[in-house]
Amino acid sequence: RRAIYAKLRDLPAETRDGISIGILMNAGLLLDLQHLHESGADGIGLYRTELPFMARSALPNVDAQTMLYRKILDQAEGKPVVFRTLDVGGDKVLPYWNPSDEDNPALGWRSIRITLDRPAVMRQQLRALLRAAAGRELSVMFPMIAEVAELVHAREILDIEIAREKQLGGVPPTRIRVGTMLEVPALAFQLDALLPLVDFVSIGSNDLTQFLFAVDRGNPRIAERYDPLSPSMICFMRHVADKCREYGVHLSVCGEMAGRPLDAMTLIAIGIRSLSVAAPAIGPVKTMVRSLDVGVLVPYLHSLLDARDHSLRPKLRSFAIDHGV
Ligand code: PEP
Ligand code: MG
Repeated sequence: RRAIYAKLRDLPAETRDGISIGILMNAGLLLDLQHLHESGADGIGLYRTELPFMARSALPNVDAQTMLYRKILDQAEGKPVVFRTLDVGGDKVLPYWNPSDEDNPALGWRSIRITLDRPAVMRQQLRALLRAAAGRELSVMFPMIAEVAELVHAREILDIEIAREKQLGGVPPTRIRVGTMLEVPALAFQLDALLPLVDFVSIGSNDLTQFLFAVDRGNPRIAERYDPLSPSMICFMRHVADKCREYGVHLSVCGEMAGRPLDAMTLIAIGIRSLSVAAPAIGPVKTMVRSLDVGVLVPYLHSLLDARDHSLRPKLRSFAIDHGV
């Protein structure tokens, strides 16, 4: 199996009807970078910066962060890397920093809510990212944005740091791309205000599933209760995909569902052209892409969207089997 996927590395991720799909990798540790080149991924679609923070006993300072982010960009060898700012709280606890006395940590003081309330931490991280990306492209993504005002606020903090570095005479990145995660449903109802402000959007299907269905992502008792391949979730994401296309904003999906071939097939059918997945999923997803005829799947999927089904998975699985996907 490994050998088969190794051969796949240099083949394009293109569907049978000629649609190119970006397949990127999720990463969080420097170690993950070794898989970037051996897998043939197009880049890092989600670099979870909190993972190195969690592995330490105190917050890393600007120099330590700069060195780490520079190494990541060096090892990516020019492939794009999307750095997501600190996304702690909820299921990701920083023992030295994060209070864990909340009744509902998933809905609590977490992620962008923390970094907007503690802008010094955010500013240090953005400063390190700007320095690490001197003379090359920088992509920054903000997590858990629930409303446009939060994105505007985060962007202002970034602009302060850009101005500060300029004043200090630092070499700036050649280009700065700013994006947001879409993982809180409320944001999908502000897309006309949001999309003119961002270069890209990435759907975090893990948290989005949690919030759309009000189902704890870490509770095994209800883990199987709702399926992201349900009419509601697919319609929701199709709306986001339509809007992003209308505004010419790059859209990807970086939650776990993007790495499951049947789910990825469905995402492609609603217009998503970029998937960021865990390294072991790259081969299986690429295999699916290369066997898929999107033009055949799209009308079939649309015929299912008004269904009363709990999950469209059985029907989509049958489609995949019938069509050799
Ligand atoms: C997500 O929520 O889908 C996501 C990609 O982010 P994380 O799993 O790190 O919360
Ligand atoms: Mg998330």
